[in-house]
Amino acid sequence: MSPGSLAQDAVHGLGAVRDEIAAACADCGRAPASVALVAVSKTFPAPDIVPVLAAGHRVFGENRVQEARDKWPALRDAFPGVELHLIGPLQTNKAREAVALFDVIHTVDRPRIAAAVAEEIARQGRSPRLFVQVNTGAEPQKAGVLPEAADAFIAECRERHGLALFGLMCIPPAADVPDPHFALLSAIAARNDLAGLSMGMSADFPAAIRQGATHVRVGSAIFGHR
Ligand SMILES: *Cc1c(COP(=O)(O)O)cnc(C)c1O
Repeated sequence: MSPGSLAQDAVHGLGAVRDEIAAACADCGRAPASVALVAVSKTFPAPDIVPVLAAGHRVFGENRVQEARDKWPALRDAFPGVELHLIGPLQTNKAREAVALFDVIHTVDRPRIAAAVAEEIARQGRSPRLFVQVNTGAEPQKAGVLPEAADAFIAECRERHGLALFGLMCIPPAADVPDPHFALLSAIAARNDLAGLSMGMSADFPAAIRQGATHVRVGSAIFGHR
């Protein structure tokens, strides 16, 4: 397949995902504008992303700091108004670069990360919007604070580190029906006065929207298989 036809596919995928977001919103009486579509461009090179930018989309997600640093400065120069989201795990030694590069970080999940991000926000005078990742399925291999530890961690982020949190993020276990995970995330957010809910990927974003997602992170349904 030529790069040109891949690009067409991504623009087509973007349109199809937007239609599905609108349909899910109609189902549950929400305004489509209340759901931000984070187009997950990880692993795709700049030439695959350009057509989606040219089609007017500006909100993108990457899961690695270094890959984002390699790809996005030039794309941002060419297409003003990009909002870049970090959706992958964050290491303390990458906090400086992450705060400099990203507008939204979805993966604050432990005290050392909260401290490192807070230090960089103070140092750089930049304030990315922050989500706490919750490991709703308590999977040992997965990042995120455990559900039963979430309230205390949120309080620690706010009180000890002075972080203005925006919301919560989760990635349900691949084998589970996702709805109970989305509902759990929503309940933790509500009792902690957090407005943002980053949940829903290519396979399950309509269900996430029905459960209140404010941010859906969709990669393969737009860009194709990785
Ligand atoms: C890769 C990724 C996505 C997008 O996954 P798709 O199934 O391709 O839509 C969403 N969220 C996170 C955290 C990811 O790493």
